[in-house]
Amino acid sequence: MLPLNSMLCCDRCGHPKGRGCVCRYLNAEILKMRAPVVYDGWPVNAIRALKYQHERDRADSMARYMVPCLDQLGDSPLLVPVPLHHDRLQERGFNQASLLAGCIARETGLPLEDALIRIKATSAQARSASRAERQEHMVNAFVAAPGWRADPDRDYVIVDDVYTTGATTGACAEALALAGATRIAVLTFALDLQPRELESYRRLATAAGIA
Ligand SMILES: [Zn+2]
Repeated sequence: MLPLNSMLCCDRCGHPKGRGCVCRYLNAEILKMRAPVVYDGWPVNAIRALKYQHERDRADSMARYMVPCLDQLGDSPLLVPVPLHHDRLQERGFNQASLLAGCIARETGLPLEDALIRIKATSAQARSASRAERQEHMVNAFVAAPGWRADPDRDYVIVDDVYTTGATTGACAEALALAGATRIAVLTFALDLQPRELESYRRLATAAGIA
């Protein structure tokens, strides 16, 4: 497992500093993004086991890694899991982002709300899809739940399992902002780095004695 160390990562986007920084792609609505580990090694297996083998108890240990990141994501934020489309929820029987957010809420006492609804069914996003393709795909994929309004003075943290291009959490942030939220952050369990960025970060982490 490769932890993402705050000394080696950008304070806003939480990605490795330098060329790994993705602030230029981060939606303007997102103040900060954090993930505790790189999507590599056992975190990959943990996410697959949770999503595809339905090993729901994996969520607890994943959430425990995520909790310390919350210190940097606002003051008593409201947790908002990335919703699944109704059809996908029927098929899988549970939403992995809701499970993670639920474990975090139990561990911290923070509130959780299903503030968003996914109105656009999206096919499984191929890892090969470009950032622009993924973003295009996710336009208007989410809306606020009927009657849900955000408190502009409150901190919101969007919770998901893995951050790849940010297209999903970016679309969620836009929906929250449309509902009035002004203080939005993102927390995922793992961060999927491009192979070159992964190697470069691994070298830095090894040199710093973190990996
Ligand atoms: Zn950055």
